[in-house]
Amino acid sequence: MTMSGNRTVMDRIEELKDRGTLPYEDLKALLGPLTGEESEALYAAAREVRESIFGKDVYLRGLIEISNWCRNDCYYCGIRRSNKNAQRYRLDKEQILDCCDKGYALGFRTFVLQGGEDPWYTDERICDLASSIRSAHPDCALTLSLGEKSRESYKAYFDAGAQRYLLRQETSSPAHYRFLHPEPLTIENRKRCLYDLKDIGYQVGCGIMLHSPGQTDDNILEDLYWMKEFEPHMVGIGPFISHKDTPFKDEASGGLDQTLRVLAILRLMLPKVLLPATTALGTIHPRGRELGILAGANVVMPNLSPAGVRKKYMLYDGKICTGDEAAECRRCMEARIRSVGYEVKVSRGDYPGWTREQ
Ligand code: SAM
Repeated sequence: MTMSGNRTVMDRIEELKDRGTLPYEDLKALLGPLTGEESEALYAAAREVRESIFGKDVYLRGLIEISNWCRNDCYYCGIRRSNKNAQRYRLDKEQILDCCDKGYALGFRTFVLQGGEDPWYTDERICDLASSIRSAHPDCALTLSLGEKSRESYKAYFDAGAQRYLLRQETSSPAHYRFLHPEPLTIENRKRCLYDLKDIGYQVGCGIMLHSPGQTDDNILEDLYWMKEFEPHMVGIGPFISHKDTPFKDEASGGLDQTLRVLAILRLMLPKVLLPATTALGTIHPRGRELGILAGANVVMPNLSPAGVRKKYMLYDGKICTGDEAAECRRCMEARIRSVGYEVKVSRGDYPGWTREQ
């Protein structure tokens, strides 16, 4: 059993479960390394908290990757502007509505439109998409993940029917943010977006890329404390994975064990949060998503993009689920979730207690 000071890791897990936070050095100790027994105790505590709120339910989000055009040049990302090898595409309104229809028939009640920051998607087009999807499927929730916009743009999308927005801060540390992103991107603007989104009334998802180049445990802790304070409704945590056509092509990809520990820690810090077991986690380990569910995650995001474009939305090398049709992804995901004792729930899967109907 690991001891530091006179407290064991088990004491720390108990305290985190009871209080939802820990002093800095204690939280740092939970980032590991931990023994197998200690890790299992951390995951068991996260499952207990998760099940006290969500039971055995796992929510599905149907991910539609609408465009891989991007005006940004993030050093880690395979669809960055400078990657001349990326084969660019964008889906039009009919294609996106078709993905939603197919997804609805498969039991999806949340659609997530994600894409690079593609100027072709003007506010007018995004609002039109949002209102068309909401009128075609009024019992579904619509999430957007289209990057940094002005407050006015976010408000317009919200008024048009989008209820949720995902925007990972990626890293809270200004120096580390600068290491990952060229100007004009700044952590200040990224966080400004997140505060605006929350203030407008969205259910907001933030999150980090774990083990991105240059990231330290202190950076991760800064993010954990910031997220505790920000109180997001959803947190997307996935390991960094290198992409062959980016400046970080030779950097090591993120590891499984610490990603699972961070998922479990987040569940204990933010008990009600919607926490996806991400595709990146499934990419670094064949059972990564199942292990994520067992570490406290309660959301999965199968791909609903047309099979013909999936290989083009290549954020990192080896990305899984780029070949299957939507129905196949859905079946596969259900079987994976069942295999660890959980159940897919046909539901919008709002944040617990969310009452702002829209
Ligand atoms: N443009 C939107 C934005 O900035 O939030 C959404 C698209 S962006 C490609 C979606 C997410 O992909 C990012 O938040 C980032 O965390 C993740 N991502 C990009 N490159 C990655 C990589 N090499 N490894 C792991 N995740 C990556």
